[in-house]
Amino acid sequence: MNKFQILVVEDDPPIRNLIATTLKTHEYKYLLAKNGEEAILQASSYNPDVVFLDLGLPDIDGVEIIKKIREWSNMPIIVISARSEDEDKIEALDAGADDYLTKPFSVEELLARLRVMQRRIALLKSDSDINEKSVYTNGKLRIDYAAGCAYKADEELKLTPIEYKLLCLLAQNTGKVLTHKYITQKIWGSAWDSNVASLRVFMATLRKKLEDEKASVSYIQTHVGIGYRMLKVDVKE
Ligand code: CA
Repeated sequence: MNKFQILVVEDDPPIRNLIATTLKTHEYKYLLAKNGEEAILQASSYNPDVVFLDLGLPDIDGVEIIKKIREWSNMPIIVISARSEDEDKIEALDAGADDYLTKPFSVEELLARLRVMQRRIALLKSDSDINEKSVYTNGKLRIDYAAGCAYKADEELKLTPIEYKLLCLLAQNTGKVLTHKYITQKIWGSAWDSNVASLRVFMATLRKKLEDEKASVSYIQTHVGIGYRMLKVDVKE
């Protein structure tokens, strides 16, 4: 089974089914959304590897969806547009889309675009794997992944296993906003409301241990109603 998960956003049932069947045949995992609202919900809940996004949707304009997703994620977005939507296509690329497919397209073309994205992601991932093996540093924070320890200015932080997991997850995604749902999925394997409530508690204790009250610097930024982000901190602090 291909480990990639693809979100398909398309309001036209025959095209949606065509893409779904193609992905299924090639053993990709996929999620389907038939409008913009579903698209944003699925994107934030599951953090898919790639999004195929139809621009002409009944509720929210595709370009607006790209802008929304870009507020917190760099997930690759491949726009699907009809030829009559050429101007929208340019707008979509400017808004942060990575590639586009023009309708009508062949399934071979769709798969080829997907493989390009996969190669790009694989390259990025091999970079982050190398980082994961070594040591993460950010300001006075240092995480020794091999030892499973985190330090602040060379003093070991006494973290619970969940706090440590949270810290690593945020560190590995420094600069990116991770949604509550994404974090709870990664930490607990599910995104129940009770987990989101626990997340707030763990995040509060983690921040207390990590962030000096005296220092003006904060490592973790809260995005109210969305999630959290690890900031790149200036070494001097
Ligand atoms: Ca459409």
